[in-house]
Amino acid sequence: KPLVRFRQVGKSYDGVTHVVQGVDFDIYKGEFLSLLGPSGAGKTTCLMMLAGFESPSEGEIWLGDTLLNTTPPHKRDIGMVFQNYALFPHMTVAENVAYPLTVRRVARAERSALVNRALDMVRMSALAGRMPKNLSGGQQQRVALARALVFNPRLVLMDEPLGALDKRLREHMQIELKDLHRKLGLTFVYVTHDQSEALTLSDRVAVFDGGRIQQIDRVDALYETP
Ligand code: ADP
Ligand code: ADP
Repeated sequence: KPLVRFRQVGKSYDGVTHVVQGVDFDIYKGEFLSLLGPSGAGKTTCLMMLAGFESPSEGEIWLGDTLLNTTPPHKRDIGMVFQNYALFPHMTVAENVAYPLTVRRVARAERSALVNRALDMVRMSALAGRMPKNLSGGQQQRVALARALVFNPRLVLMDEPLGALDKRLREHMQIELKDLHRKLGLTFVYVTHDQSEALTLSDRVAVFDGGRIQQIDRVDALYETP
């Protein structure tokens, strides 16, 4: 049984023009699914609807047995990492990672154990007291990842999380992400316009164009398509 179900989901900002239309797909527990397609294809809009920052104009989005359409973001049990979502600049690394736990009213003692575990996962424990401005781009993105994973979410959403990094660092982080996914067994949904990145990272790829899914398949099956 799928973890998430999109059922004939559409999004229009003016009631006429659809930026997403008839989108229908499932996300399975533990998979690494990429949403691939050119700029403007509707990938981010789908991710935002999944996160709860946008609501669908049509259709239904289910997380397990919960209809998500009207659930506020902080009640969705979903972690997020975005290219342009900076760390809170006035908080240390540890405070940044603790933030989702504070929002969720997790008790202080449990909070520090979870923060330590998350920082350990991304190998940032030694820099727990640093301010974000004193970190490299790759380190900042690892902290953002720790913040997304710290509450053990049912789903982790990433929107071009490596887009701001240079090529070498990006390739390095791709390996780290894939390892982390394998180790944690979490469900990752990853937005990218980079085909080779999608093929490298994912179990399955949903190809978006013009607000619709053109094709969704396992990576090995996509390679066989002419
Ligand atoms: P992608 O992530 O594939 O680049 P997006 O989902 O960001 O695509 O955007 C899909 C389309 O929706 C684009 O044409 C974009 O201009 C439009 N769009 C996104 N947000 C809004 C908004 N708030 N109001 C109007 N149009 C929007
Ligand atoms: P609040 O109830 O304080 O308004 P939100 O619903 O905005 O909280 O956010 C809930 C959780 O999602 C928080 O843990 C926050 O860190 C995280 N979050 C919110 N927006 C983003 C984002 N754009 N990127 C990553 N994480 C986010």
